[in-house]
Amino acid sequence: MRIANGTVVDPVAQTATRLDVLVEDGRIAAVEPGDQLEAEAEPYDARGCLVVPGLVDMHVHLREPGYEYKETIATGTAAAVAGGVTSVACMANTNPVNDSSAVTRFILEQAAAARLARVYPIGAVSVGLAGKQLAEFGEMRRAGIVAVSDDGMPIMDAGLMRRALEYAKLFDLLVIAHEEDTCLRCDGVMNEGLTSVRLGLRGSPAASEELMVARDVALAELTGGRLHVAHVSTARSVAMIREARARGLAVSAEATPHHLFLTEEAVAEYDGNAKMAPPLRTRADVEALRAGLADGTIEAIATDHAPHHPDEKDCEFDQAANGIVGLETALGLGLRLVAEGVLDLPTLIARMTVGPARLLGIPAGTLAVGAAADVAVIDPERRWRVAARSFKSKSRNTPFDGWDLQGKAIATFVGGALVYEDRTTAPPLRVAS
Ligand SMILES: [Zn+2]
Ligand SMILES: [Zn+2]
Repeated sequence: MRIANGTVVDPVAQTATRLDVLVEDGRIAAVEPGDQLEAEAEPYDARGCLVVPGLVDMHVHLREPGYEYKETIATGTAAAVAGGVTSVACMANTNPVNDSSAVTRFILEQAAAARLARVYPIGAVSVGLAGKQLAEFGEMRRAGIVAVSDDGMPIMDAGLMRRALEYAKLFDLLVIAHEEDTCLRCDGVMNEGLTSVRLGLRGSPAASEELMVARDVALAELTGGRLHVAHVSTARSVAMIREARARGLAVSAEATPHHLFLTEEAVAEYDGNAKMAPPLRTRADVEALRAGLADGTIEAIATDHAPHHPDEKDCEFDQAANGIVGLETALGLGLRLVAEGVLDLPTLIARMTVGPARLLGIPAGTLAVGAAADVAVIDPERRWRVAARSFKSKSRNTPFDGWDLQGKAIATFVGGALVYEDRTTAPPLRVAS
């Protein structure tokens, strides 16, 4: 097969060049100008499109086992490939928790059966996410985990976090931290500030994240372990991470599309789809996240795709579950960052491919010859309106429903196999903004 006539975006070389991609036996066999390829492979016409490595989302909740009413590995990976995502790392807060090789193996078996996106399980830091006793990192590593995290549950015991960073080093595992001091967050449901006062909702201060980032940067320095800050949300956190990296510490971070686009003002309608942990912050925080993404302090865009049943979201704001789905909107929102001049196109693609792939140490995010042929074909002109009702995900909880975006994956290949194709032939929507 030959993906012909597209503009190949190379996130490492930072180039965008008119090239053909030749695929043989599921791997990239050549990336060359079309007239220099003599192969008679069947062409897939990507004229007018961008051809990029399949996107890598390092922070996804697939909900299986245990919460299949929200999402399954099959529906979650269908949502992934519909968004151009070919590799996902899935968090351990399932039921049972992924704190053993048996659960890790189950996840990998379900993923293999679904035959859509590649799935990389993340193991729990602590048994049952209880924050008391370290899980068996080595056993899970041999079964296939690529990182450890108690995501959803902050690790409040600094001694346990220290041991986790030390233990993870033995197995070259990234420790992904959900940074919120639960004592300080208390029962806050949105960012603490004038807006929370005006809305009469209990707030969680930026300091609840920043204290934990400061603590864990100190522990990364003490142990030499690899700390990754999940869904960073405040300006001061970004500054601390930038400073730690400048000192050569193995500290990294990801930002979510929602923290890059929305502020606490989105809560004004008391819409449960604006509720997440950490919460949406201020305009100044959004600007700092964008700057951190542009200068490389933040190496990855990750969705924190968190499906919930409508009953868990269409209720009082206080009671609503935390989190939103993101796999099917991340690329369109990312391209908006390019349109707004926050990032250039190769940098955006780097943050969604090689950045997270390197952090996890997985063979993804590249179109190098010999790599698996995981490829997304993006129509950069396609204007489309987010319609949650037609998501491949089982869940609909998104604050972006009805947003007009430009740029969409129209074909997704995993190991050279076409696993998603957008056959929309309707004329493009007329778009106001
Ligand atoms: Zn989290
Ligand atoms: Zn999460």
